[in-house]
Amino acid sequence: MMKFTRSAAPKCLKKYKQWGREYTRKRPSKFYWHRYQNRSVHEIVLAELESLTANHCSFCDGYPLGAQSRQTIEHFRPKSKYPRLAYVWQNLFLSCDVCQNAKGENYDKKLLKPDAIGYAFNRYFKIKAKTGEIVINLAASPDDQERAKITLEMYDLNSTVRKSSRIKQLQLKYMFKYRKRGIANDDLDNLAYRFLFI
Ligand SMILES: [Zn+2]
Repeated sequence: MMKFTRSAAPKCLKKYKQWGREYTRKRPSKFYWHRYQNRSVHEIVLAELESLTANHCSFCDGYPLGAQSRQTIEHFRPKSKYPRLAYVWQNLFLSCDVCQNAKGENYDKKLLKPDAIGYAFNRYFKIKAKTGEIVINLAASPDDQERAKITLEMYDLNSTVRKSSRIKQLQLKYMFKYRKRGIANDDLDNLAYRFLFI
């Protein structure tokens, strides 16, 4: 999970309160997006979120979304439990379908948020280079450690396939090192799992 800074809410969501109330009242079986100036709000929001994370999943940092995993908009606080927040900009995150399916309708108020003030990967996590596992930073406070644990579990960040794809990415890191070439910020955004390189 890489830190990102959230921009101001896009204009297309200006009716978020009204839409949230309506959604709470109707509770349709399927969630729907509205239209804004003849454009799909889903498309506009997706493009905005994409630019915030450079098309990386907000939670596992998988990249590029749309190639191996589907690009989805995740409701951080699930819309089944918090229907009024269904169109609130701060509640919307770009996510891969693997993270979205793992989390499902679960939520915990201790879950880490990549755009939160004070969030940094190294504050909460470390990487085990041999296994590709993301582990809890044991130097963190007990509360931070608990938050890290909940986050790892809720997004299933240490599944076998995820660990092995991080090992592959670490090989790339060592190749860069071997060539004595640092990774510029622009290059970083073209890589999956950017936290391995910071
Ligand atoms: Zn993901």
